[in-house]
Amino acid sequence: MTLITNNASCSDCGQLIAGSSETLEEPKPCTQCGGTRRTFGVSIQETVVARDGYRVTNRRAGAKKPHIDDRAGPSFSHSLGTLVHLERIIDRENDRYFERVTNYDSGAVIHHNEEPLSQHFDHGSAKPERQTDGGIPTPSEPPKQD
Ligand SMILES: [Zn+2]
Repeated sequence: MTLITNNASCSDCGQLIAGSSETLEEPKPCTQCGGTRRTFGVSIQETVVARDGYRVTNRRAGAKKPHIDDRAGPSFSHSLGTLVHLERIIDRENDRYFERVTNYDSGAVIHHNEEPLSQHFDHGSAKPERQTDGGIPTPSEPPKQD
């Protein structure tokens, strides 16, 4: 959605001037101070931007958990109060955990964590199977055969 705001105000006292008959050529005196100078304001604001993401998982036959879980997409940061871009790779085969959170607008890295997966889960607070990070749906995983 693009929001466009047009307004005219009195340059002398700041009073907002209402009415569409107002023109620059024949301004009516300001109802408050009688001034005829006008300040016009136009602002355009993009309020919705499309975000997309993906999630890839790979699981060996008979394994409870996928040996690789790779995702990237929008995630709501409660601490920042805004939408951020979350990339997370859980690679059980190579014992690797990668997580990076970047600001959508500036591209700045907010959080970056990369460590052996075994150490990451030793922290005790990690809950890799919980959907707590922004509602990227878990795709259904058909049984695989090697
Ligand atoms: Zn005025």
